[in-house]
Amino acid sequence: MIRKTRLFTPGPTPLLPAAQFAMAAADIHHRTAEFRALYSRVLAQLKEFVGTKNDVIILSSSGTGAMEAAVSNLTSPGDRVLVLTAGKFGERWTALGKAFGCAVDVVSAPYGQTFSIDAVKAALKLETRAVFMQATETSTGVRHCVPAVAKLLKDSHSEALLVVDAITGLGTSRLDMDGWGVDVLIGGSQKAVMIPPGLSYLAVSERAWDRMEATYNPRYYFDLRKERKNAKNGESAYTPAVALIAALGAALDYIAAQADGNLAEGRNKLIENAETIAAMTRSACLAMGMRLFAPDAPSAAATAVLPPEGFTSTQFVKAIRARFAAIITDGQGEMKGQIFRIAHLGYFDYLDTVALIGALEQVAVQDLKLPGVEFGTALIAAQKVYAERGATAAADSRCFCGRTDACCSLQHEDFGAGEVKLYT
Ligand SMILES: *Cc1c(COP(=O)(O)O)cnc(C)c1O
Repeated sequence: MIRKTRLFTPGPTPLLPAAQFAMAAADIHHRTAEFRALYSRVLAQLKEFVGTKNDVIILSSSGTGAMEAAVSNLTSPGDRVLVLTAGKFGERWTALGKAFGCAVDVVSAPYGQTFSIDAVKAALKLETRAVFMQATETSTGVRHCVPAVAKLLKDSHSEALLVVDAITGLGTSRLDMDGWGVDVLIGGSQKAVMIPPGLSYLAVSERAWDRMEATYNPRYYFDLRKERKNAKNGESAYTPAVALIAALGAALDYIAAQADGNLAEGRNKLIENAETIAAMTRSACLAMGMRLFAPDAPSAAATAVLPPEGFTSTQFVKAIRARFAAIITDGQGEMKGQIFRIAHLGYFDYLDTVALIGALEQVAVQDLKLPGVEFGTALIAAQKVYAERGATAAADSRCFCGRTDACCSLQHEDFGAGEVKLYT
């Protein structure tokens, strides 16, 4: 049979056709009025997409470049910083902090779990200058509770800046940067915004801009203050990835069009889309007798699944690719063979979802002969979730961290009525 190559990976994600057309047509010079109009428009749209009044900076780099920029611009050698980690991307913060001479304290949780707020509280010191974390840890499929950490910093009158890698959190999680008091929120192009790799972006609070006046770690290409100055004139400091910026504009237009031109509402619909697909995927995998790797706080960005006893995740990844040319991802590093991951962020719809679940079912029944699984087992579960969520999505009462029970140690009502609406 014909096999169409399809990405189900948590970056890069499937490309939006309108964005691809915009890229092909982006034959413009970056020091022209035409580009300045485009860049200014995209920067303004990004603010709405992120949901902040803070300035947003775009960098021509993959997501890690923006992570590095956050560390190099906000710290000085010898600064004490705190990294909250439960996976490969959390570990990247630790490596970056060390690379820039910081004294790095670490709160870690086992892979598949999120850290307790009490542990964060215990590790926070008076001299902690910055806290680095993920909104969603893509390597394990877990969602961390950003508002709980933000609240802790606020309540303890900490001077630490809160820097959040939301590279797969944006477009999959409700994030209220300004309301919670997040200082830097980082995104990447090859994730929920449906365009190729090559751009990262950061929303930066005034507190963080002030900090940059005093910090002195080396930086040149990723000098955020220089980029901010240029952005005010609709330009970037160096030659930007013009075609990707055109693509980003088209993608944000598409997201806005999901809600009659209201970009913030369109983003919320994108989040709900990812939540529904994630819920369908979880129930399909559970129905086939598999377990979730991050059952307590699953992210809507990607689902990490433990293969049944006696099988490796690599068998699933290879069979899905060989038979259907669909790409799901194996575990990263030492998790290879132990979990497979399916992405939900960005340009995935209902049909993509049932197709992949059908493919998983084929592999489970025909190739791996999983006991207790027959045709329909997974699809019935997913179909039911889809049917139910249509009716209940608006009334979803889960907390930010995806839990249905009382989440972490945080009472979300603490934020005050109307201040933070986590799932409305
Ligand atoms: C994809 C991703 C990154 C960035 O990785 P790059 O390969 O540099 O784009 C960082 N953090 C998380 C959580 C990610 O999912």
